[in-house]
Amino acid sequence: MPASAAPSRCQRHPKALAGWRCQSCGAALCPECAVGRRIQTVELVGCGLCGGDAQTLSIHRGVVPLSHRLKSAWRYPFSTAGLQLLVALSLFLTGVSWLTEMSFLLMRAPLIALYGGLFWATFFGLVRESARGDTSLDIPDFSDVFRDAIVPGLRGLMVFVLASVPALAYGYLAHGATHATLDAFAWFIQWKPPPGLVSDPVFWGLLLLGGLWLPMGLLLAATDQPPWRMLDPRLVLGLARGLGSDYLLTTATLAALVLLQGVAHAVAGGLRALEWLVISRFLAECVTLVVPFLAAHVLGLLLYVRGDQVGYAAAGDYMEPVLGSTRPLRDAPSLHAMGGLTGPDAELASPLEEAGAARLGATEQLSSLATAVEARDVPRALELYAVLEQLPSSRVPSEHHLFIGQAAAVEGNFPLAVTALERAADVAPDSPTAPRALVMLARVLGERMNDTARAEEVYRYVLHRYPDTSAARYAGERTRLTSD
Ligand SMILES: [Zn+2]
Ligand SMILES: [Zn+2]
Repeated sequence: MPASAAPSRCQRHPKALAGWRCQSCGAALCPECAVGRRIQTVELVGCGLCGGDAQTLSIHRGVVPLSHRLKSAWRYPFSTAGLQLLVALSLFLTGVSWLTEMSFLLMRAPLIALYGGLFWATFFGLVRESARGDTSLDIPDFSDVFRDAIVPGLRGLMVFVLASVPALAYGYLAHGATHATLDAFAWFIQWKPPPGLVSDPVFWGLLLLGGLWLPMGLLLAATDQPPWRMLDPRLVLGLARGLGSDYLLTTATLAALVLLQGVAHAVAGGLRALEWLVISRFLAECVTLVVPFLAAHVLGLLLYVRGDQVGYAAAGDYMEPVLGSTRPLRDAPSLHAMGGLTGPDAELASPLEEAGAARLGATEQLSSLATAVEARDVPRALELYAVLEQLPSSRVPSEHHLFIGQAAAVEGNFPLAVTALERAADVAPDSPTAPRALVMLARVLGERMNDTARAEEVYRYVLHRYPDTSAARYAGERTRLTSD
């Protein structure tokens, strides 16, 4: 579905957005026209007009463009989650910078590396969280200092070095060669550029190229791409094309943030000059972290909106239900949700009753089971089902297996639920009961018995064997979630 596709409107209420579409009559349904169906813990949606199964309508999250999302992005560092992280990281950094000043010369290098590592690990973590649409990042536990701090620190440093090396190298070769070697490097350490450099357009062009590449470098570093890929021109150009104008928008936003960070540093300098012991330092860290937090959030938002076009995540992950987590206003009563129990049961039960003369015992029990199921008499049905264990399971209609499976799951008898649901699918694999029973089976396995591997297998089987059913769509969503 293209990102610009307009959401459908309800067939009966043209002013309301439709969240579902009926697979039988094709009607677009709003929450008022759809009915909720609960099968055990599986929540499905039906059509309120004809009773058919309804499919959830999705839309690409890009329908809310990045430019719109950026307008509220500034709030992020001031959200509860953002502030908690800001305070935690500021405390960490204050401690490390204080230690750095107190320690011997030899100890300073590793402490500075730790300071940078803590900063970049949090920065890259925020990019990834925002790219997932989540904004609650716990501060990394740094159980493995090398992996959790040193590597991110090196990655962050490398991105800035790579972005500035062409301009600096050019400046040195074109303008610095007349000076002695040390002097030549001194100009960018002391910010005293040699005459002629400032008016050289090539230098500024290279600096601009570096600046344009920088957000890309940060994105690649945040998503753990190997360093050599950052400089692969085909990859970089491909990414720029995929992200399109949103990449330029992100770059412009980051450039504005760099200016803002200049102001933040000035404020932080003033706070440090107050010398309220540790408090000054801590406040100064807080002030200088706000802009980096925003920058990481903006980079993450770019991936959140456009990541599917650069292969960051599967396209399906970028489709979201039009109505979000909104459910239909009305719910069907839970047991009726299984459908097919009333109609087919009556038909199945009567031939069994008629053929009763031959195998009176078993047939009587089967019809008693049918009666118990129809009357929703769970204890009686469970009791009869246990007796019928002796019979080949194919003699019990699949709807009855499904009923028992559901009842057993409610009672907490999960092994029985699994057996009955497996049988429901086995005895009539081509009936609509089968995929429903399998989805329930997978949920019992995955959510009640913690057997996610088997649940995943069942979901995959449903996808493969019963494509184009609501059960398969449900299974598709579940397998995507669990394979993350
Ligand atoms: Zn319908
Ligand atoms: Zn409606």
